[in-house]
Amino acid sequence: MICRRVRPPVGNLMVVVGGQCRKVGKTDLVEDLIRAFPERNWTAVKITPYAAEGCPVNGVLCKCHSHQHPVAIRAEKNRKGSSDTSRFLAAGATRALWVQTKERRLGNALPRLEKALAGAASVIIESDALVRFWHPDVFLMVLDPRKADFRVSARQVARFVDVFVLRSPDSGRDMLQNGAQNRRPRFLYPLGHPLPSRMQTFVRQQFQRPRHLTLSHAKSFQLTPS
Ligand SMILES: [Zn+2]
Repeated sequence: MICRRVRPPVGNLMVVVGGQCRKVGKTDLVEDLIRAFPERNWTAVKITPYAAEGCPVNGVLCKCHSHQHPVAIRAEKNRKGSSDTSRFLAAGATRALWVQTKERRLGNALPRLEKALAGAASVIIESDALVRFWHPDVFLMVLDPRKADFRVSARQVARFVDVFVLRSPDSGRDMLQNGAQNRRPRFLYPLGHPLPSRMQTFVRQQFQRPRHLTLSHAKSFQLTPS
């Protein structure tokens, strides 16, 4: 499939956080960025694919066609819960949304997501797949060189990364196997440690760049469906 990345049709600032695999600390990074920049009044979003073959609107028993019910968007209200979206609110987000999409249907879900985000100023989104469609102002990817798992879906979007966040020191093995990607800024930021001041300064500078200056990798590209 050919994807053409476009500027997000919503928000003055859009930050996307992806990661090489599950449990690498993506949600923690979203929380930390919300806390570090509270003046942004974040709308925080978590996008997850719904369980294979299921329907995110009505569950596994729904008999809908593959193009029906592509997405369910739920607004989180509980600041004290244990869900990731509750954690976003507890960190200081103004709004938090949980977006579940059918497998390979994120593209169909974007009009509804755009509607849900209308009026939001600063948006931070935990997702690996969204950067295939939208070109955010900043895309951070969390890596942990101790983990062997590096999903194909994450490798495919590594070329769009603006900042790599390492949860453990780089062991010297080339995780990305691509020299161009290795030239992107990277910061060591172990889980449980405070946000490194150099990284905070760098990210703030990215936030302040006008959007028209951040088009460095906006172009069509080919990839396998996901
Ligand atoms: Zn359905």
